[in-house]
Amino acid sequence: MALIVQKYGGSSLATIEKIKGVAEKVVADKRKGNRIVVVVSAMGKTTDNLINLACQIMPFPPEKELDILLSTGEMVSVALLCMAIENCGEAAEGFPGYFAGIRTDSFHTKARIQMIEPGRILKELEKESIIVIAGFQGLSPDSSITTLGRGGSDLTAIAIAAAVKADRCDIYTDVDGVFTTDPNIVQEARLIPEISYDEMLEMASTGAKVMLSRAVEFAKRYNVPFSVKSTFGKGEGTMVKELSLKEGADVSAVALDEKQAKMTIFRVPDRSGISSNIFTALGKENINVDVIVQNVSKDNFADISFTVNTTEAAKTLKITEAIGKDLGAENVVCDRDIAKISIIGIGMMNHPGVAGRMFHALANEGVNIEMISTSEIKISCVIKKSDGQKALKAVHKEFITNSQ
Ligand code: ADP
Ligand code: ASP
Ligand code: MG
Repeated sequence: MALIVQKYGGSSLATIEKIKGVAEKVVADKRKGNRIVVVVSAMGKTTDNLINLACQIMPFPPEKELDILLSTGEMVSVALLCMAIENCGEAAEGFPGYFAGIRTDSFHTKARIQMIEPGRILKELEKESIIVIAGFQGLSPDSSITTLGRGGSDLTAIAIAAAVKADRCDIYTDVDGVFTTDPNIVQEARLIPEISYDEMLEMASTGAKVMLSRAVEFAKRYNVPFSVKSTFGKGEGTMVKELSLKEGADVSAVALDEKQAKMTIFRVPDRSGISSNIFTALGKENINVDVIVQNVSKDNFADISFTVNTTEAAKTLKITEAIGKDLGAENVVCDRDIAKISIIGIGMMNHPGVAGRMFHALANEGVNIEMISTSEIKISCVIKKSDGQKALKAVHKEFITNSQ
């Protein structure tokens, strides 16, 4: 008898018909003799709609109350899926994230999991019920509801799988698995049957939203192999696990992140400690900074640019403006009209000339590169948002369609 954790994303639960379909699938898996723990996201666009409601009250809603509001989305899915499972003749037990023992820190809207106490889940499993847990939420040390950040149900699923020592963790979504790029943008994208944690991590953190990067990081740290597959299709999907290095293609995937904003601080004094001031302040507010570029100093002043996720742009601008003023900078500008295109591949380490080929593919399409960042297995370029999709198609053609 296997213990299986299954996660269903918002698109898989968007309507009552879809919820009934998920219930039938869960019940069928249970009747094959398995013990099942299900983690659910909020239905369809519920989380966006809830954020929108809060922002109609004030542009920066208090984050503690925002978490109370956002946590309701996943609870609706828990209740409806439990009803649908019971309607199929099996017992179900629904849990908010906090009853499922998920303890977090106090960073509202972006809390980090500190500990999981799975005792209650394990007890309920003994009673043969199907357990349904609200993804994306936990409880802070002062007992208030927290949420884990957008896409956080992926993290709930992986963390629960680790805590209950599941035999399998399956992430069900609206595509057949992890592809060489977003199959909804590039038709030629190919399904990747298996991929290493490291490559999946780079893909997720460069915009392949099929998995949350923090969930992949957690899976790697606690060695939780997992699969990504289609809720309503039949295929085996993609297995994500530790893979031994093998020689192969230079680039295994291409990703586009259209949710990036670029901050530029103009004319800051070029002296030691300036970058430390800026990025320490952002770090204290738990803001994740991505690509950073400082230009060559002219008359002892420099411009510093960096990118952040658009969900953090307004907060970042506010903080950066205040620091810029203190440091005597000229002004701070936020550009939301950007995107980041990245190529990812473990094989890249041993294939010279990869960067040149990427820049050439972009230049051929007339795409201007504003910023570049690299790691051993990734190259990212910041470009204009309106160039994003044509850049993705051109780079995917260069490295995947034409190369294999
Ligand atoms: P869920 O609601 O199940 O959490 P998401 O919308 O968060 O699903 O993620 C699935 C989406 O990720 C797909 O519909 C697809 O458009 C997008 N995506 C982006 N890059 C990739 C990729 N490389 N492989 C598969 N899907 C991708
Ligand atoms: N409902 C949350 C979101 O939309 C969490 C999730 O779906 O994983 O971000
Ligand atoms: Mg998701």
